[in-house]
Amino acid sequence: MAELIAPGLWRLDIPLVGNPLKNLNSYLITGERNLLIDTGFNQPPCRDAMERQLQEIGAQLEQTDIFLTHLHSDHTGLSGVLHREGCSVFIGAVDGRRLVEYAGDQKWHRIYEGYIRDGFTLEQMKTLWNTNPAKMAGPGQAVSYTWVEDGTELTYGGRTLRCVRTPGHTPGHMCLYDAGNRTLFSGDHVLFHITPNICRWDGVADSLGDYLASLDKVRNLAVDCLLPAHRQETGNLKNRVEELKEHHSHRIAEALRTVRETPGLTAYEIAGRMHWSIRSRNWDEFPLTQKYFAVGEALSHLDYLEVRGLIRHTLIHEKNHYTAADISEQ
Ligand SMILES: [Zn+2]
Repeated sequence: MAELIAPGLWRLDIPLVGNPLKNLNSYLITGERNLLIDTGFNQPPCRDAMERQLQEIGAQLEQTDIFLTHLHSDHTGLSGVLHREGCSVFIGAVDGRRLVEYAGDQKWHRIYEGYIRDGFTLEQMKTLWNTNPAKMAGPGQAVSYTWVEDGTELTYGGRTLRCVRTPGHTPGHMCLYDAGNRTLFSGDHVLFHITPNICRWDGVADSLGDYLASLDKVRNLAVDCLLPAHRQETGNLKNRVEELKEHHSHRIAEALRTVRETPGLTAYEIAGRMHWSIRSRNWDEFPLTQKYFAVGEALSHLDYLEVRGLIRHTLIHEKNHYTAADISEQ
């Protein structure tokens, strides 16, 4: 059921079946024209839930523009299905460019080759080729996007929404800030109960460093109503920013400790020694798609340490091996 949060502002609950994120919150601002923020995977359970709740509200897709906080397929997947002629689909320019690239196979070949160098086997990556939801449940090439920049303002339902670029979770992630109503649509930048996945991105030197800077960027916004893109939980922005920063400083220390204790591991092996909140007894039992995200996350922490000169990696027998910078000369 769609939930009325404030006059003219709805939360639509979109199930992400079989995904540990559990659900996506789409938000709908109604007015002369509507704005739908984020959409769900391009899969039938998401589509059914979306169409049913739009119908409950009485929102017409012909009068609905779409805003995508970032390129991930659980946010962008249905944009092609929901888009009607004459309507706009907004996305940050940085993620918009990438979304076009990810619609083809070439980019994925490059990403997967990188993951093999970081410790996955060719067999594992072949299995992921047709099962990874990041690759399979996206919007394809169905829509032409309208790119927005940091500071772009959109007006819907009497609300002025400012785009706030918050790179980290993705290179072009955007929050939407409605200063007049002290409301922040935080996308996957600030989540409650779960921590946003911060992984390595092709062409980005330090996505975790970017993420931590983006947390500081939103920390002091005046916000009474914080609307994240997953789960029901919400809360205080400043407190949550501090918790997320603390979480990552523990993870950074854990990654550094792992590299120091056992020099020469691959990112895959380092991820296997880090602690994860997923309910599996050990690394071998992790589902392959979760390993993919876990290794991506470990890599962002390794990049953070490497950019700051604390560790380094060396390519040996076509795999990247990590050592602490202060003991690598041994
Ligand atoms: Zn995301």
